[in-house]
Amino acid sequence: MHELSVCQGMLRQVGAIAADHEARAVTGITVRIGPLSGVEPELLAQAFPIASAGTVADGADLIIETLPVRVHCETCGEDSDAAINRLLCGSCGDYHTRLISGDELLLASVEMDTEREPARA
Ligand SMILES: [Zn+2]
Repeated sequence: MHELSVCQGMLRQVGAIAADHEARAVTGITVRIGPLSGVEPELLAQAFPIASAGTVADGADLIIETLPVRVHCETCGEDSDAAINRLLCGSCGDYHTRLISGDELLLASVEMDTEREPARA
């Protein structure tokens, strides 16, 4: 499953962020995925408990936000939403478009438990 390795890569990023903040645990992770990223949100959600077991993010909530597909038209200059398999300009219908959003796979936010243990004398 491709999503498992995607998830493991994401968890390495999360682990580095948690270490930077001296977090005891990661409680929530938000990722943004575009429909053209090649990652299926459902499969990523299924892979997450497997990939996160035993890591600092074990038991964290995974929130997946999906992004729209947007294109910039080279002919009329308009930006518009497009269908996943038909990247046509929504304004003039031209196919000379450039993808501006939809292939992202972004780690949007990480919620952490950073409460320190009480210092012992
Ligand atoms: Zn256009």
